[in-house]
This record gives sequence, C-alpha cells and structure tokens, in this order.
Amino acid sequence: MFIDVAKIKIASGKGGDGKVSFHREKYVASGGPDGGDGGRGGSVVFQVDDNLSTLLDFRYKKKYVAPDGENGMAKRMKGKDGADLVIRVPRGTIIRDQKTGQVIKDLSDSEPFVAAKGGNGGWGNTHFATPTRQTPRFAKPGLPGVTMEITLELKLLADVGLVGFPNVGKSTLLSMVSAARPKIANYHFTTLIPNLGVVRVGEEQSFVMADIPGIIEGASEGAGLGHDFLRHIDRCRLLLHLVDAAGSEGRDPVEDVKTINAELAGYSEFLAARPQVIVANKTDLLGDDREPIERLHAYADEMGFAFLELSAATNQGVRELVMKTWEMLQELPPVFVYEPEFVPVEETVTERDITIEKVEDYYVVGGAWVEKIMSSVNVDDYESRMYMDRMLKNAGVYDRLEQMGVQEGDFVVIGELEFEYVH
Ligand code: GDP
Ligand code: MG
Repeated sequence: MFIDVAKIKIASGKGGDGKVSFHREKYVASGGPDGGDGGRGGSVVFQVDDNLSTLLDFRYKKKYVAPDGENGMAKRMKGKDGADLVIRVPRGTIIRDQKTGQVIKDLSDSEPFVAAKGGNGGWGNTHFATPTRQTPRFAKPGLPGVTMEITLELKLLADVGLVGFPNVGKSTLLSMVSAARPKIANYHFTTLIPNLGVVRVGEEQSFVMADIPGIIEGASEGAGLGHDFLRHIDRCRLLLHLVDAAGSEGRDPVEDVKTINAELAGYSEFLAARPQVIVANKTDLLGDDREPIERLHAYADEMGFAFLELSAATNQGVRELVMKTWEMLQELPPVFVYEPEFVPVEETVTERDITIEKVEDYYVVGGAWVEKIMSSVNVDDYESRMYMDRMLKNAGVYDRLEQMGVQEGDFVVIGELEFEYVH
C-alpha cells in the first residue's frame, strides 16, 4: 500500500534544570555557589533523504520524542544536551499543522529543518550570585519542549505528469522512456502506486515523469481513487495528456480530453492551467481512417495545447515526444514550492492570553504568555529586566493596568516578581 499522508506527533525535549549547590572543600568554611546549568533539550529535526519515496515508515510509529537535557550538577558542571531527533522523509514532503492544515514547511531542499526546538536549560545558581547575595539558594528550571501534532503529506516532485483515461498507454510510455517498470495491463486496473521515472535527455539533462493512475469520471468529487492521486501531479510543470487516438475502446478522443480536463479543473484551477501536450497514442491501430486524429489535432489547436502523435508500443514518436517535452520544460518555471503559512502560537499570543486581576491591594498579572516570558527572564539581570519591561509594555499590560486604575506605588505581581508601580 502506498502511504502518502501520515499523522504524527512530535515533541522536543525539556531543558535540564539549573543546579543549586555550593562549593565544598576541606578546611574551607563556606564556598561560593557552584551549581551548573541544565543541558538543552533535543530538537526534532526533519531531513530530506532521497533514498526514501514513501511515508510508509510513519504508518506504525506515530510518536517522535527527542530526549530531555540533563540537569546541571555541582562543580559548575553543565548537564548534557539532549540529542536531536532526526526524522528522515522523502523529498517533496510537506509538513502541515494538523488542526489548521497550514503549511509549516515544504521539504523540497536538503537543508535540515528544525520543527520543534528543544527547551533551553535553566541557569545554575552560579549565575545568581551578586555582591549582596553570595549564597543564592535558587536556580532556574529548564524550559519545556514543544509538542506538535502534524500531518506529513508527500507530493511527488515530478516535472511532468501523465494524465488520461485508464488503458491509454501511460505506463507503457513511462517504461519506454525511463528505467521505471510500472505495471502494464490491458484492462481497467489503475495502478495504485504513482510511478516516477527519470527521463534522460543527455549527459546531464533529465526530467522526472510521473505516471498518475487513471483519473476516472467523478474523481474530483471524491469518487474512486483519482482524487487522492491527483495530489501527486499538483505541482507538475507540464502535463502530457495521453489519448487513445484510435478510439480502440469505443470512446471518442475529443470527448476523452474534455472529460479528463473537466476532472482536473474540478480538482484544482492551478492544475487545470498547466500547459498540456495532447499525445495521440496508439496510432498504429488507426488504420485508414484519420478522421478522429485530425479532429483531435484541431481541438488541441483550438485550445492552445501542443499536439503530438505516438505509438508507445512500437516506439514510434517516443524520441520526438521526449525532445518536445524537454524543450517546453526549458521555458517553464521550476516546480512550485509551497511557502510556509503557519504562524507559531507564541507569535500570535494576544492580550486575550494575559489576565490581570485585582486581589486586595495587588494587581496580579498572569496567563500562559506572561508565564512564558517570566520563565525566561532573570530578574537579577538589568538587560533581562529591560527585555521583560519591553515585552510587557508592547503586549499592552501597562495600558491595561492604567485602565484598571493602578496608582503610583501600588503593588503589581507578575509571576514570582513583585514590584511597585511607577508611571
Ligand atoms: P495505462 O492504463 O494508461 O497505464 O495504459 P498501459 O500502459 O497499461 O497500456 C494499456 C494497454 O494498451 C496495454 O496492453 C498496452 O500494451 C497497450 N498499448 C499502450 N500503448 C500502445 C500503443 O501505442 N499501441 C497499441 N496498439 N497498444 C498500446
Ligand atoms: Mg498504468
């Protein structure tokens, strides 16, 4: 079975906690703080692997968890970082957010992609020593990892897609021009696996051709297999539209083209707008009556499609078809790559995620966003405090406090921090 969509869960590791510890040595009364930092949690990373061509591996294994960072130790020893978890996928895999369907990443290049970043390790108590506080009895916990529910979707990256009714000779053509060996059958069995073949034109010149299993009538409305498989030609730069020119199954070639193109349009406007070559196959069966093929040619001209005659089975016109395809590809834009459209949650956090309550004389600021900011702030550090101040201001926290009637000198509590309000 060909798996081209998989739903999985990924989780990066939590950062290790910072350590609280003090230097101990014989004859030394009290040593300074020496708690080490926690290690970073492992990230979940995706990597394209050209040896893979399906998402089969994801059928049984659904959960991918990178290890946590280790906690910091005494003697300023940093905890070990969690190792990154590398997930290998075929080229052309698209990562989407399961809930929204938004594209997180189109894995079309070979750059590793960090989908879930490991949490940072917490600082050990060595960081918190100041001239007035020489024995800090606290350290920072590691930050949590990220959990994501994603869908992997494989769209083959073919330059050229073969479309047409079942039995028109698509598999035969692919096997003639490439090393791919698709099933060839003289019955309406539509191959379940879209076959990819590399077509060599010259030394360093080649293109990828995909044999897409038959698009049957009603496919774009979800009937039959067709709809699912159309996904694989979504991104083709050129369509070779094969037609049984001899009408050997009793259908009319022009009607066939119209039917298939209506299917394509029903599925995707983008796909229907791809340039097409109408390939009149099985010309060896034509006999003396050239009327159907002339009508087909005229129709192709009328629609602005290129037109070629072929007899795949007897290798007539195959070379011409390959050259014509190559020529057209030179003029066409490269394979369409999806732009990421997914906005990670923390960047979309709005004031709705910030709560401000008045409890007795205190204004208590809370909520997921605030907790996240505060967990990364070191209140003993000036830069860090300024950063916090900026974040709170930009998020409208101060404006809201003012609206609630906060007065100079009132107490505001944010996380573990308590301060007097100044305008
Ligand atoms: P597909 O369903 O479009 O992939 O069609 P196939 O490649 O499986 O071909 C269906 C049948 O048509 C097979 O029996 C082929 O041998 C036959 N066929 C393909 N091309 C030609 C051709 O040019 N001439 C003739 N006479 N038969 C062909
Ligand atoms: Mg076939």
